[in-house]
Amino acid sequence: MQPADRRLPLLHEMQRLADEGKHCAACPGHCCTAVANSMQTTPLETQDVLQYLRETGRWTEELKIELQATVQKFRLDQIPGNGKRSYLRRTYDCPFFAGKNHGCTIPREVKPYGCLGFNPTDINESEGKSCGSDQNLLARREEVWAEELSENKSLREKHKLWWEKLPLPLALLEAEQAGF
Ligand code: SF4
Ligand code: SF4
Repeated sequence: MQPADRRLPLLHEMQRLADEGKHCAACPGHCCTAVANSMQTTPLETQDVLQYLRETGRWTEELKIELQATVQKFRLDQIPGNGKRSYLRRTYDCPFFAGKNHGCTIPREVKPYGCLGFNPTDINESEGKSCGSDQNLLARREEVWAEELSENKSLREKHKLWWEKLPLPLALLEAEQAGF
């Protein structure tokens, strides 16, 4: 299954909200910065982003240095827990956020599910006050694509991963290190 197919329910809901005027155009991007961003990704989501970065020539030494700097600045590698369900999620400035005017530089088709499932519920939201994760929608997506659980399991076994979810910058670096 292609990365975009796994994201279809989320993409449809995002579009439905946008059609109602519930979009991010007026917001400086609070959920992509340390103000509110604590996004974590599974091995499969991480692989989607990494593959996209490689295919588009963006997986460069400069980017890796930037990811490492983010990990260090926000202490993303010092998360309590065992990589399964950490009880403290650290917030961080996402290295893929290009500022208010350019937004996220990761296309919707490979974006982390949590990013796609976090949307405003008010029209022309500008402060992020009405925004939140649609847990029902995210759960429904997992039910529909249950095979994804086994894909994550296979990736963990194949690459001997110690984690099930990590902050995106750390997940990408760990994935490369593990031979993705
Ligand atoms: S991947 Fe994109 S949408 Fe998600 S936190 Fe980073 S910049 Fe924001
Ligand atoms: S989801 Fe909310 S906080 Fe995030 S960019 Fe959109 S309006 Fe801003």
